[in-house]
Amino acid sequence: MLKTSKGIVLRERTSGENDKFIDFLSQDYGLMEVKVRGAKKAGSKSNAATQLFSYTKLCITKNRTPYYVLNSAEPCDTNYGIRLNVEKLALASYFSELIRYTVLPEQPCEPVEKLLGRALFFLGRNTRPNELIRCVFELRLACEIGLLPALAACSECCCFESDCTYFDYQKGNLLCLDCAKELGIHYEPRIMARLNKTLLHAVRFIALSEPEKIFNFRTSDHCQKQLSVITEQYLITQLGRTFPTLEYYKNLVRSSP
Ligand SMILES: [Zn+2]
Repeated sequence: MLKTSKGIVLRERTSGENDKFIDFLSQDYGLMEVKVRGAKKAGSKSNAATQLFSYTKLCITKNRTPYYVLNSAEPCDTNYGIRLNVEKLALASYFSELIRYTVLPEQPCEPVEKLLGRALFFLGRNTRPNELIRCVFELRLACEIGLLPALAACSECCCFESDCTYFDYQKGNLLCLDCAKELGIHYEPRIMARLNKTLLHAVRFIALSEPEKIFNFRTSDHCQKQLSVITEQYLITQLGRTFPTLEYYKNLVRSSP
């Protein structure tokens, strides 16, 4: 049976002399493995339409194989800018690895597909800092896969905000400074973040705003650096592991002038 869906090419690998496999995050059917026959032949249209990180419309079919086979492909947006810049490429590869780790094959996951689509769109166009795109993607991905932190108020006294609020990476909740003092809890950077009002607003904005708006904010460089630590720590604490592509990206950023 033929299936048609738009989606994003997450990964590609060569198969034999002429073919390739892609991991495709489809809007309608979730994560799928698709064989692209003849992709390595010169001038292959199918190959051009299924480049890494492209947003594309595929028509696919599955017979007795565990994977799908490409029937036809129509590129919508190649996100070409990503492949021109090694830092952007590394960041997109990290997003891809996160999704392949957290999303089950062939389970519809439209919010995740939309999140990745927007992240790659901005990454390919130089209209948002890479680090802002990373922060939004990390925290919002956590929210979309069932790891939404409790950000409404202090978990003890229910106050909405205070000058300083602790955000516990493991429990995924907030504790105001007064309650922390009362409970004898001291700041420990490995297990909690210290949020001033700006950071608290940023974290709430990413987690709770409408999907179309989450990339539409700006922060100072100082605030951005803190936010990068917070979203990364939250996600890797919740998932219980880090990722080689994240380490590679961070090494690139550290060594860039
Ligand atoms: Zn409190």
